[in-house]
Amino acid sequence: MSSVAGNVFMVVAPSGAGKSSLVNALLAQDNSLWLSVSCTTRAPRAGEQHGKDYRFVTHAEFDALRHHNQLLEWAEVHGNYYGTPRDHIDAALARNQDVLLEIDWQGARQVKKLYPDSKGIFILPPSIDTLRQRLTARGQDSLEVIERRIQAAAEEISHAPEFEYVIINQDFSLALAQLAEIIRTNRLRYRSQQVLHAALFSQLGLAAPK
Ligand code: 5GP
Repeated sequence: MSSVAGNVFMVVAPSGAGKSSLVNALLAQDNSLWLSVSCTTRAPRAGEQHGKDYRFVTHAEFDALRHHNQLLEWAEVHGNYYGTPRDHIDAALARNQDVLLEIDWQGARQVKKLYPDSKGIFILPPSIDTLRQRLTARGQDSLEVIERRIQAAAEEISHAPEFEYVIINQDFSLALAQLAEIIRTNRLRYRSQQVLHAALFSQLGLAAPK
């Protein structure tokens, strides 16, 4: 890990906090970031594309990935299985690209164990009322379904203290700027700079990365 400059970032949020819009806007403005495409057993939603939004797999395929140790982490979320494929992550880091994972708190705990330098960013909604409105405005779901989503959001939010950074998504442009700032600042970490500027560091008598 130490001869690699890329960082691992985990972006976690309750549904309705605006995480995907923020991540998409971030990717559009930063081509050093590589977004991992997760596998899921959930059915595609309208407009979702296989290989872009998720790799949609059957339960049997998901189990096979797990058993062959091809998932970096995995979790059951709202009755469906989700996992991060292991294969492309180390390759992206070796290219000194930063890796972005859009996962839940359970996955974030597992990734933190594997990549202790990884950074967790939790996106909070500006208020419980806004969250309720966002979850209600999504479609023609029943009150029961909406209530269940709000409960699930509250459960996800209760894990926010496990994360290094918190962004409150009240003003989209501000939240996006804050997200970009976290990433930029982390690129200046000693370890990353030492790898990216190895010649300078050695000229200055600073030890090469192990
Ligand atoms: P959705 O079905 O709404 O796209 O995602 C539901 C939840 O699953 C979100 O909290 C999302 O971050 C999480 N999720 C998506 N991909 C992964 C993954 O690869 N691993 C884990 N642990 N959670 C994921």
